[in-house]
Amino acid sequence: MAYQGILHRYGHLLNLPSYTRPVSLLEGDTPLIPLPRLGRELGCELYVKFEGLNPTGSFKDRGMTAAISEALGRGAQTVICASTGNTAASAAAYAARSGLRAIVLIPEGKVAMGKLAGAVAYGAEVIQVQGSFDDALALVVEITQKTPIALVNSINPYRIEGQKSAAFEICDDLACAPDWLCLPVGNAGNITSYWAGFKQYQACNATGLPQILGVQAEGAAPLVLGHPVEKPETVATAIRIGRPARGEQALEAAQESNGMIIAVSDAEILATQRVLASEGIWVEPASAAGLAGLMAKTAAGQFEARGKKIVVVCTGHGLKDPSIVTESFPSPKLISATYQALADLIL
Ligand SMILES: *Cc1c(COP(=O)(O)O)cnc(C)c1O
Repeated sequence: MAYQGILHRYGHLLNLPSYTRPVSLLEGDTPLIPLPRLGRELGCELYVKFEGLNPTGSFKDRGMTAAISEALGRGAQTVICASTGNTAASAAAYAARSGLRAIVLIPEGKVAMGKLAGAVAYGAEVIQVQGSFDDALALVVEITQKTPIALVNSINPYRIEGQKSAAFEICDDLACAPDWLCLPVGNAGNITSYWAGFKQYQACNATGLPQILGVQAEGAAPLVLGHPVEKPETVATAIRIGRPARGEQALEAAQESNGMIIAVSDAEILATQRVLASEGIWVEPASAAGLAGLMAKTAAGQFEARGKKIVVVCTGHGLKDPSIVTESFPSPKLISATYQALADLIL
């Protein structure tokens, strides 16, 4: 049967109320792409779970199909979220599809253009907040406590349920869990979901459990520092978060899985973005953090990749944040429209 989205494929494994009314854009079913060349360099069997190929360009669609479906079934008319960008675009798309009003709060001036454009294109009401993502999230929490507006940030439990589907897909594709799963950590919903998903699949299918390597950006690394970061700063806007809503659960996932949470520099993130692009996979900066962490730890001799089956999660598409690439680049060479000019330049 044709693919019908994650609620259809994995709904029996997701803890959603019976009144849920499925709204899908056929999210999920993303490819697990082998990286044999880089894998050989690291001595491991390496794969990218490319979540940038979801309908709105990030993994957020997995949780959003669940959260919006629940909100719709419950009779909500308006949904709201705080967002560094990708949640906004995803909430806007699923709300549009289900006829709900969507309001998104973004930190002033800190959202990548491809994400903001998405939220606007799908018809959300976008509001800038003079403050950080964490400030915007606090406002969203308050208004949803005082009114019937539905909150669709990843503190919404149905977001976590939907996002578990990525762990199920990886186990289905590999016929087991990988030895390691490496992924970026921002508000820490995704690492929480993966760990819950792997544990659930292990319980019913004996697929084994991965160790989890969660990676933050150095300028936004509350889980590594052990305290909130008041003014988080990093080029990886999707993980520019100083007070992760699910920080405790992220630390638990790392500890229970015998994994770790580490930080990498912006320079390492951008270099790894280029490494992935050289394999044909263009991701937004935050999405390169998982692999950046793996490569940094391996280079430092603090990680034994050899012989392991490793999946790095690339959370969002490069098209979300094109200016990161174009700004670091002189504009393309200009020639006259003649054969000679072209030949002079390239031959
Ligand atoms: C949301 C997001 C993250 C961070 O995920 P959390 O669940 O907040 O930890 C990482 N990368 C991208 C592209 C994202 O959109």
